[in-house]
Amino acid sequence: MQSRWSDAEAQSYVERYASSCPPDLALRVYTSRLIGSDPSLVLHGGGNTSVKTVLRDDTGKEVEVLCVKGSGWDLGDIEPEGLPALRQGSLLELRALPTLSDEAMVNAQRIRMLQASAPNPSVETLLHAFLPHKFIDHSHADAILAIVDQPDGEALCRRLYGERFAIVPYIMPGFALAKLAAESFEKNPHVEGLLLLKHGLFTFGESARQSYERHIAAVSVAEAYAKKKSVHEPEPEPEPEPEPGARFTSLAPVLRGLLGDHKRRYSLSLRTSPQIQRFLARADLDSVSQVGCATPDHVIRTKRYPLVLRLESTPDPRETIRGLLNTYREQYVAYVTRQSARKTERIVPLDPDPRIILAPGIGLIAAGPSASASAIAADIYEHTISVIESAQSFGRYETLPESDIFDMEYWSLEQKKLGAAKARALEGRIVYITGAAHGIGAACARRFANAGAALYLVDRDAPRLTELAQQLRAAHEVLDVSDERALRNSVARCVARYGGLDGVVSNAGIAPQANIAACDTEALEHSFRINLFAHQWLAASAVDVMRDQGMGGFLLFNASKAAWNPGPEFGPYALPKAALVALMKQYALEYGSLGIRCNAVNADRIRTHLLDEADIAARARSRGLATDDYYRANLLGKEVSADDVADAFLYLATAPSTTGSVLTVDGGNIAASPR
Ligand code: ZN
Repeated sequence: MQSRWSDAEAQSYVERYASSCPPDLALRVYTSRLIGSDPSLVLHGGGNTSVKTVLRDDTGKEVEVLCVKGSGWDLGDIEPEGLPALRQGSLLELRALPTLSDEAMVNAQRIRMLQASAPNPSVETLLHAFLPHKFIDHSHADAILAIVDQPDGEALCRRLYGERFAIVPYIMPGFALAKLAAESFEKNPHVEGLLLLKHGLFTFGESARQSYERHIAAVSVAEAYAKKKSVHEPEPEPEPEPEPGARFTSLAPVLRGLLGDHKRRYSLSLRTSPQIQRFLARADLDSVSQVGCATPDHVIRTKRYPLVLRLESTPDPRETIRGLLNTYREQYVAYVTRQSARKTERIVPLDPDPRIILAPGIGLIAAGPSASASAIAADIYEHTISVIESAQSFGRYETLPESDIFDMEYWSLEQKKLGAAKARALEGRIVYITGAAHGIGAACARRFANAGAALYLVDRDAPRLTELAQQLRAAHEVLDVSDERALRNSVARCVARYGGLDGVVSNAGIAPQANIAACDTEALEHSFRINLFAHQWLAASAVDVMRDQGMGGFLLFNASKAAWNPGPEFGPYALPKAALVALMKQYALEYGSLGIRCNAVNADRIRTHLLDEADIAARARSRGLATDDYYRANLLGKEVSADDVADAFLYLATAPSTTGSVLTVDGGNIAASPR
């Protein structure tokens, strides 16, 4: 591993933050980012860094502070405000205490902060405080874990690092570890850092560069050792599996439905790199995958063990998955029961579902309560594979006993990192929206994203779609819904992306105008393709997925007032929209028994790009109205917005007892009311 320090870049950080923070804090930001942007060093909020500096408090007095990584920040893109400042002198006084509970430690840290609104500092804050060095860097580097996760890790560390590093036996992060780390340093005051067995690496220095480069040097020693000692020739890459993605797409809905036991919903992430395929092909997969987490921090994301899911020769994948999941859950419950017995406080068990599923022939499947959580779990396990492969290549991968992992998994401060489960209406739901780049579709995308859904957005307008998808962190695909095969494949890609589908907002439409007798067949057919058949293709593809999941779902159609109250010259639009209402009722009828609810929204006169301004002006004129008055020509005398319509869709998406209905959002129009 090479140092990526650059004097020029370092200077640019100092200049960039010159008005808001001292140079040492700016350099702290710089090297924190160097460490945080290398996933073989830290992943997703892992690791922490600090600097001791001088800031002014609210009275203007200069105080010595510790600026340490705050929770909720990633080292890779940290800013100065991600390193909250605590009064260092006062933190040091805590060391005299014999013990300090976790709650008292959190409180002790918060009341020593300069900014009341700053994020909670790292759970390893006191470790940073009790060491005297100006800069401290901590990571869970893959190469270091392969060394410290060995039965003879301590002897190996001693051999590789001599007297340059102090070796700290494993104890959980918190007050006790902070004291132990300080004592280890004081016994060996010449060391450059600490090697924490079964946990990771700390380095320190008087400059940002020194601490960072000691970190890189220590990791490089571990890398060089692994390379030299690797007794096994690297195995040849296995033959690539034929279409692991297609196998995943057919399997994922079944897995997703069984995984949540029909109560909890997960997003799934599939990974299929050559390294993963090689790992899954290992003869010792069943044992080597059941050793545990590479560093205890990972347990809240991956659980202690993955589930190995072999489906190669099973005649009934559903039953095989069900059986394996039941066994996994029973073992998890037994582990919690066993470990809770030694606790005085009451333990509330977490869900017993696996987060990592290793499926030979398919890939690494990660599960999480949200799309981002499943991606994080997948990233972590990809690195766990690197650690296991390296550790096994020169020794034996060994991790902590289950009691230590349990303490970490059920540590309140660790669970806090996941954030309180937000009870949003569509949390964990995967929703597919057509015509998502504009008007009602875009308004729905925003509403549904706010409600917690993972979104798959499609539209023909690539630039607008991409922009919205980026804003909402949604998956997206440029798609013309009039192409049946493309639409059905797109639903399959949504399943490949998230592992399933819980609902659709079938919204895309066109509004052709012509006298009904004079309308040519081709134009009418095109309108039917988009305003009726595309809804049918989407609904049919969606119910296939929903049936496999067995968790119900919702189908929402954008109908129109034209279904009830046609306008002159608007037949090519009104006809398929009237049929769309019948389609909605048919799905409600035939799929209600599977818990699939089907409803439509009947909106009118919304400013969207469905009709251009000239068309609107013409329609308004034909009724003797100015354009703005045209939009307000309803019983309430108010213009209806795309957001009003999106609210109706959101309501129908979450209304547990409503199916086969049309919800009108048109400001009031008796002539168009459904009857
Ligand atoms: Zn750590």
